[in-house]
Amino acid sequence: KIRVRFAPSPTGGLHLGGVRTALFNYLYARHHGGDFILRIEDTDQTRFVPGAEEYINECLDWCGIAPDESPDKVGPYGPYRQSERKASYRQYAEQLVSDGFAYYAFDTPEELDARRKEEPNFRYSHENRMHLRNSLSLSEEETNELLSEGHPYTVRIKMPVAETVSFDDMIRGRVVFETSLIDDKVLLKADGMPTYHLAVVVDDKAMEISHVFRGEEWLPSAPVHVLLWEYLGWKDKMPSWAHLPLILKPDGNGKLSKRDGDRLGFPVYAMNWTDAKSGDVTKGFREMGFLPAAFINILAVLGWNDGTEQEIFSFEELIAKFSVDRISKAGAKFDFEKAKWFNHEWIKKTDNAEILPQIEELLKQHGITLYALDYVSNVLTLVKERLIFVEDFWEQASFFFARPEHYNVDAVKPKWNDNKTVFFQNIAAEFATMQEWTAGALEPFFKGKIAESGMKIGELMMPFRIMLVGGKFGPDVFQIADILGKDEVVKRIARALP
Ligand code: GLU
Repeated sequence: KIRVRFAPSPTGGLHLGGVRTALFNYLYARHHGGDFILRIEDTDQTRFVPGAEEYINECLDWCGIAPDESPDKVGPYGPYRQSERKASYRQYAEQLVSDGFAYYAFDTPEELDARRKEEPNFRYSHENRMHLRNSLSLSEEETNELLSEGHPYTVRIKMPVAETVSFDDMIRGRVVFETSLIDDKVLLKADGMPTYHLAVVVDDKAMEISHVFRGEEWLPSAPVHVLLWEYLGWKDKMPSWAHLPLILKPDGNGKLSKRDGDRLGFPVYAMNWTDAKSGDVTKGFREMGFLPAAFINILAVLGWNDGTEQEIFSFEELIAKFSVDRISKAGAKFDFEKAKWFNHEWIKKTDNAEILPQIEELLKQHGITLYALDYVSNVLTLVKERLIFVEDFWEQASFFFARPEHYNVDAVKPKWNDNKTVFFQNIAAEFATMQEWTAGALEPFFKGKIAESGMKIGELMMPFRIMLVGGKFGPDVFQIADILGKDEVVKRIARALP
């Protein structure tokens, strides 16, 4: 059975890379009919941030990729928060020590800090472990004495010397690491909590995870994990690994970081993140006006394609087409202009019914509360082509909800004359008696009247638009008139005339 997990640490808001990792896990699971698990990796209590777990849940919900099992939806493999699994890790650390793959280290944080001051490149490794205070360098009696005295200790992995560790990454192919270059990572901390390295292996095993999709930044840790799978005697159960390509800044110059959002003028968080201490809000895609379908689409093509030129993918298509072979090794540039284009395309594709709640919210913000929903929907259909964000609706269509306050008549006035006034008075009267009020009927009628008047089309079309809209913008004027309705059009002409 395919089981994948998204295993964030609750240290803050989720940025693009985090949600993409969740999405790729989700797509892989759905494509293969497997399970998608959310595991909260909260063993580092110094980095724990209140509210981060709620944010993660809300974010996955908003994106439509809610997990099958999670702290809130407990399945047979719970608990799903590592802090609640604390009791399960120590036995494995002890097992590794007794099997000779790990050791107790008694060095205090102060001792190690002093050491690091002397030697900025200090690493606890095979090069110096025999000169540090641990169960490898001390005699068995000394070790037992320290343990029975209750001296605090960590458990460290004993990295082998001059060996290679390799595995087949689903994206990168065979990757090989030289063990001598890796330090003796802490597995169990003095407070009894496991580190990420131990917890991730123990939990992936306990939760029967079959495939791990995670960011490329975890590749250097992978050999430690592979060794732990082996040392714990679980090698045949080891999941397949896939390390996803980095997400790069728009210019391709380095990794996109959480801080880049403010600097580069676009969001990198999925949703607004409020820093509890400072109250600072980091803007997110959701609040910026991205539709979840667009956001998912943007993330899906950050490092994946289906082998064709296709760029717009529905959720169902992504599930059907997702394949690991099409994930690239190379970093994927994030282009915000392109992201906006995706949103624009998705607004065009999305049914009005799905967008209308947001439009109603927007109208409310502008004090508009009385309207027929059909009317709003017709307006939306007319201006959809022009929206990048749902919020743009107000700029494009506010005149449908409020009569123009003032007219940009300068464009018209210098050449205004009584003939034009008479023309509009007459046409308003004739509009009032028109039977069929549609754009299709209005256009020939209006143009016919212009022809009869002997004036030019250009002289009268723009004034008509300005009377209805208040400016020289907007979609087709007859469609505007159609939606506004006969009475309103007649009123607006009357108001605008000198
Ligand atoms: N807890 C790690 C993180 O925050 C998860 C890495 C992994 O998926 O193994 O990214």
